[in-house]
Amino acid sequence: MPSKPSLANSLVELDRQHLVHPVSSFHGHAARGVRVLASAKGATVTDAEGRQLIDGFAGLWCVNAGYGQESVVAAAMRQMRELPYATGYFDLGAEAPIRLAAALAERAPGDLNHVYFTLGGSDAVDSTIRFIRYYWHAKGQPERDQFISVAQGYHGSSSAGAGLTALPLFHDGFGIPYNWQHKISSHDLYRNPLGHDPQAVIEASVAELRAKVEAIGPDRVAAFYVEPIQGSGGVLVPPDGWVRALRETCAELGILFVADEVITGFGRTGPLFACKDEGIVPDLMTVAKGLTSGYVPMGAVLMSDHVYQTIADGAGAKAVGHGFTYSAHPVSAAVGLEVLALYEGGLLENGRRMGARLQAGLRGLSDHPLVGDVRGRGMLAAVELVTDKAAKTPLPAALQAATRLFDRAWEQGLIVRSFAQGVFGYAPPLCCTESEIDAIVERTRKVLDLTLDDPEIRSVLS
Ligand code: PLP
Repeated sequence: MPSKPSLANSLVELDRQHLVHPVSSFHGHAARGVRVLASAKGATVTDAEGRQLIDGFAGLWCVNAGYGQESVVAAAMRQMRELPYATGYFDLGAEAPIRLAAALAERAPGDLNHVYFTLGGSDAVDSTIRFIRYYWHAKGQPERDQFISVAQGYHGSSSAGAGLTALPLFHDGFGIPYNWQHKISSHDLYRNPLGHDPQAVIEASVAELRAKVEAIGPDRVAAFYVEPIQGSGGVLVPPDGWVRALRETCAELGILFVADEVITGFGRTGPLFACKDEGIVPDLMTVAKGLTSGYVPMGAVLMSDHVYQTIADGAGAKAVGHGFTYSAHPVSAAVGLEVLALYEGGLLENGRRMGARLQAGLRGLSDHPLVGDVRGRGMLAAVELVTDKAAKTPLPAALQAATRLFDRAWEQGLIVRSFAQGVFGYAPPLCCTESEIDAIVERTRKVLDLTLDDPEIRSVLS
């Protein structure tokens, strides 16, 4: 008698036939099949076969509060029962989004006092592009329609935002970036041709931004976008003072400075917002992910007083034609308020302590023959593997290091981000215990040792 297919097996088949996965090789995914996650608690997830793993990446660097927070579930249920939806159109609103906007404004740097809620990070970035264009029209300078971002940066995958993203995968085959989207080089301290001197890197970036603005036309540039730490580019941490120097340069050049805190916000690097690490106030800031800790979708654009006021005055009695049905969704906002209470009730503090432990633990792997670089801040880190430390030779692309290393970590009970060519990314939940952080480090060491024993890797080692 043929055996009944297990639930996990039948899901794999249904997934293969019907679910299109984000940023995946459709063929590669179909061949490998989905790994179904079934439940989670704290920093541990359990798959459909009962295997338990430490989630060293908090889903997609978003479940900052950890899984299974009952108070968050209760807040969502309460809101769903009382008022599951309220539009923000027609001068209507609901209590939770109003309170969340006020809470964010109170905590955000400087005068970022005005909050437009989105559904995630990509549409938050996309909204900034529209607000910024509107801002310059309102100022009587519609010719300021050129945007600059940083190589290896990620700003989501909306039609317009994906061109500010500077990763070829998001451009190839899509006909972007557009000709109004420009880049300057990344600070990338590990592979910077200028070397490791932080001051030299800062000065070079400032000079490059000035030259880029000059080349485009000083009165043509609308805005410059920065991630306080480049996430999807491989967790690239700029030298201290880099973000501040570029912010100051933008102010001097009269162009808007946008801080994309979609990953770095909500305790990921220590404080609630990473802009505080550098003591800067951007003109606009985007957040998502940790805003609701991934329990429900939500992102936001925070605007400074002068940006908001200019747009308001420019529109006058006319509506500013930008809006989404689910902007300021009350259930997401109720979750956001509860998650914020958890952060401030101890998770930020725990995250700071665990972040220091994670950084120290991962740096302890530096002497491993495969480790070229360890970098990060707080609960955000990367370990870059190389086959030759002196030459910084990446693992050969032909070895499909990303899937190979992801699989090997999975076998050890660890989920990490496995970037192309052998970079591990870490962004554990802020609720991690000391023993969970230690396990993340130890399991990584085990993966490195197994990788060193991998005959295909051995064959390319120098
Ligand atoms: N901006 C940054 C810096 C991000 O890291 C991301 C996602 O990782 C986004 C924007 C896009 O956010 P989402 O995936 O929620 O659309």
